[in-house]
Amino acid sequence: MTTSERDTELAAKLRGITGESSVLTRRSQLLTYTSDGLPTYRKWPALAVFPNTRNELIEVVRALALAKRTFVARGAGTGLSGGALAEGDAVVVGLNRLNRILSIDAENRLAVVEPGTVNAHLTRAANAHGLHYAPDPSSQTACTIGGNVAENAGGPHCLKYGVTLNHVAALTVILPEGELVTLGNADGEDAGYDLLGAFIGSEGCFGIAVDVTVRLTRNPEAIVTLLADFTTVEAAAQAVSAIIASGIVPAALEMMDNATIRAVEASIYAAGYPVDAAAVLLAEVDGLKAGLDVDVRVIEHLCVELGARTVRIAREEGERMRLWQGRKKAFGAMGRIAPDLIVQDAVVPRTRLPEILAKIGEIGRRHGIMICNVFHAGDGNLHPNIAYDARHAGVEERAHEAMREIMTVCISAGGTITGEHGVGLDKLDYMPLVFTPQTLDAMCQVRQVFDPERRSNPEKVVPVHSCREWYAVRGARA
Ligand SMILES: Cc1cc2nc3c(=O)[nH]c(=O)nc-3n(C[C@H](O)[C@H](O)[C@H](O)COP(=O)(O)OP(=O)(O)OC[C@H]3O[C@@H](n4cnc5c(N)ncnc54)[C@H](O)[C@@H]3O)c2cc1C
Repeated sequence: MTTSERDTELAAKLRGITGESSVLTRRSQLLTYTSDGLPTYRKWPALAVFPNTRNELIEVVRALALAKRTFVARGAGTGLSGGALAEGDAVVVGLNRLNRILSIDAENRLAVVEPGTVNAHLTRAANAHGLHYAPDPSSQTACTIGGNVAENAGGPHCLKYGVTLNHVAALTVILPEGELVTLGNADGEDAGYDLLGAFIGSEGCFGIAVDVTVRLTRNPEAIVTLLADFTTVEAAAQAVSAIIASGIVPAALEMMDNATIRAVEASIYAAGYPVDAAAVLLAEVDGLKAGLDVDVRVIEHLCVELGARTVRIAREEGERMRLWQGRKKAFGAMGRIAPDLIVQDAVVPRTRLPEILAKIGEIGRRHGIMICNVFHAGDGNLHPNIAYDARHAGVEERAHEAMREIMTVCISAGGTITGEHGVGLDKLDYMPLVFTPQTLDAMCQVRQVFDPERRSNPEKVVPVHSCREWYAVRGARA
């Protein structure tokens, strides 16, 4: 049977499960699914299927297992590492129709949601009970809880509240062979190996999350948001370290450099950031009203002591939301600078921020490209972004070379290659820079437990040539 005959047969089988309009096969229909939030990659899937119910999802995965087909789960496609891309034989399993909030148990502060539930929709529903879902990626108005689980997503408020891993109590997962398993325990702690922890952050390589039981967090009694502006990036970075060293744990501590500030202020997301500042810090403290003003005064004092020109405190909720909107939509605002954008993600020890940011600036100048920094400064999670125009000869190559240099600088400072966006496709080549061959092989063996045939999101995260098992499978098939 030819490839196209196999695809036609599979499409017919999947249509039998999900209905005619839920399976896409034409290139014009598949175009949307050839990229994710990092459009520097484009991969064509064989076809795409969009289950409408939990049972359809289960049947689809079982049909793919029977047909021995590879597949890639896709939530909202906001991932920034090429993780949701499928190529060749692989089928995209789109989960965005599975977007129901199945239950909210306010007393136990738990919710059960389908994997395609949009992050911000969950918080909106929980707000009716005085609760919210704490992990708040800047993409939260689009990204899905299933995608958050797969990437162990973070967000500005994860500095104080922890990342996705800390807010998921249990998962129902369909393994690539079609078996349904429950990981974790909504009623308490599980004994034995932490398989829930292994699945969270596995980037779609261990199977598909069918439902997610999340922990909800009580809304704080009071919130205060401050904007401090600095005339040097170094001073802003020093203020970050000083605030953390003071013992205060801000709910969020974000930094934007001048290039980012100007992009935001020129866009519809303008928040009133000072366009002549070298950098701004957006700090937020929350909790009980009593005593919160002490934290605010300490942060204000430290910023001024380290050279802040002004420290502005949001006076009302509208102003606070505008300050946050500018930060959360900063990547979008960069679309005004140039048609192409690489959003990068690395982590460095917080105290090395001043030196690393200086090196990033130097790399940009040497390659003649513009680098904008907007990041979760409190936990040293950098996002250097390169805005460029690929239509100009040689620019794309320079952008990628600059990124490679930036990653090398971060790694040599004791950092690592991703804080929250995952390895996906984009960072495969960097994995051997941070892990030994033995560790990479151990990762392959963990994957083997969940997905022995490597059919779920193939060739992502761990370079295949690192896996002894891959050689064995390939050798046997050859
Ligand atoms: C403007 C912008 C801002 C962002 N800010 C942040 C941020 O602050 N913090 C952060 O962490 N990330 C951020 N991101 C990255 C991205 O939004 C997150 O990684 C998010 O978790 C991806 O969710 P998604 O639904 O779009 O997943 P997708 O991009 O569709 O998929 C991502 C990965 O998850 C897998 N997957 C999806 N659903 C499932 C499932 N149900 N079961 C198993 N695997 C699954 C896919 O196979 C893929 O490997 C940002 C992205 C953008 C565009």
